Amino acid sequence: MQPVSLSNNGETPTGAGRIQRAGSLAEDVYEAIFAQLMSLKIAPGSRITVDNLVKEFDVSHTPIREALGRLEGEGLVLKTHLIGYRAAPQITRRRFDELYEMRLLLEPHGAAKAAATMDEAKLGTLLVAAGVMSRREGKDERLRYSNFARQDAIFHDKIMEYAENELIRETLGYQHTHFHIFRLMYHSRVTEEALDEHEAILAAFGSADPDAAAKAMRAHIEHSRDRLLPAFD
Ligand SMILES: [Zn+2]
Repeated sequence: MQPVSLSNNGETPTGAGRIQRAGSLAEDVYEAIFAQLMSLKIAPGSRITVDNLVKEFDVSHTPIREALGRLEGEGLVLKTHLIGYRAAPQITRRRFDELYEMRLLLEPHGAAKAAATMDEAKLGTLLVAAGVMSRREGKDERLRYSNFARQDAIFHDKIMEYAENELIRETLGYQHTHFHIFRLMYHSRVTEEALDEHEAILAAFGSADPDAAAKAMRAHIEHSRDRLLPAFD
């Protein structure tokens, strides 16, 4: 398989849709379509034809429909009666601003609370999540990017779990924020710079310092917002 450059937005080498078998067929099909949505190979708002995916992945209709149903639940795919599936449109600038305002209100506070009750087991879980994100070996770039998006969602969700306010955690999780923001721009900057910022958050957790954790989380979210703003130019 031809590796796809992260910064090479939109180019599709032949055979990029071929599925890399790792888990069950249903899971692999889901991951492959998820990666295409995250890396903008399937453009926001565009039609998704089941028959085309059947041909591209050389699988039956069943795993494709299952995957699309799952992605619909994650807000990434819309199904319209008699028309079929399409990729969810890009979030609007207004929605983007609202999401980041909400994140800045909730996540630094959550990080401070998580730091106050941090222990080795929790820190270990967060280090594993961060470690998976930094792995660069093997995988094609689209899959790596989509894995990063998912792992980032898990990383932030875990912190909110440790902050011990389920309502706030659910509110953030329900937005599928990470899936929408990673889909704004398919670029290595989105992932590379975030890694350093996560390190700073982990360092604050390592020293169980609530103020430092809040500060590092605020800086990460502000930088993430600034990295993605050019998507609206
Ligand atoms: Zn992050």
